[in-house]
Amino acid sequence: MNTTAIGVDLGGTKTAVGLVGAGGLVLGRVSAPTPAAQGPGAVLDTVVDLVRSLLDRAGANIVVSGCGVGSAGVIDAASGVVASATDSLPGWTGTPVRDVLTARLGMPVAVVNDVHAHALGEALHGAGADAPTVLMVAAGTGVGGALVVDGRVHSGRRGVSGHFGHVSSIEAVGRPCTCGGAGHLEAIASGPAMCAVYRERSGDDGVADGREVVRRAAAGDEHAAASVALAGRALGRTIGGLVNALDPDLVIVGGGLASAGEPWWAALREAADGERLPLLADTPIVAAALGADAAIVGAAALVSITASEEPA
Ligand SMILES: [Zn+2]
Repeated sequence: MNTTAIGVDLGGTKTAVGLVGAGGLVLGRVSAPTPAAQGPGAVLDTVVDLVRSLLDRAGANIVVSGCGVGSAGVIDAASGVVASATDSLPGWTGTPVRDVLTARLGMPVAVVNDVHAHALGEALHGAGADAPTVLMVAAGTGVGGALVVDGRVHSGRRGVSGHFGHVSSIEAVGRPCTCGGAGHLEAIASGPAMCAVYRERSGDDGVADGREVVRRAAAGDEHAAASVALAGRALGRTIGGLVNALDPDLVIVGGGLASAGEPWWAALREAADGERLPLLADTPIVAAALGADAAIVGAAALVSITASEEPA
């Protein structure tokens, strides 16, 4: 069986495409800015151009089994159509990504949500290391993740599963959330939320993003340190609750904030430990291992998973 496949990580700002071999090894990669403002046609053109340039570069001897796509937005797994997307990809909702790419690339195509692809990559070939049930939680611009059971993402009835940023958090009470609700985890634990908390505490509007808050915390700014600790604590408490609810073998924490440093991790671990049931105190909570390649690797893995599920 041919184990080389193409993985696509399609986000609102960047599209990355990788050629992925056995064991999740990335053999080559190309990327380009996502032409989001030009609409779905231009976005799909970019994917096709990147895949072709990657295959050209790989040479005539390479045979790929298919193409897996991890796309921003909620994806209907059965049809490969975008069920819902945010303003980062205007017009993306309703795009039949799988059918269009299958026709244009002339190979089998499978599509999932990008966070689900990221989690699958980490579970199968990253920090997951053979654990049967992996809970992946990623915190960055937003907060999300996935539950991966026996190498399959639990995507849910509508493909929405893993929106961990939209569960109630006592640290976020009263704070407006990006989803239109309030009091959700994402409203306190995302990078932009951490930045907003810092502005409120310090009265300083000159801070650009979460990364800047982390830098200021490391430099001794007490308001920055408090904002970082609050974000870590809120995420940790929710992770502890999810561990109680799901009893995974392993928790993987990724996303941009996972590189926020020890104070954020310490607050996360302390809150998770305080929340977990005693029987679950030893469930490992580890950092993601694949970095920016995770979604490419997970999307490529989807090709063989999807093929194995099709009736013979
Ligand atoms: Zn929300």
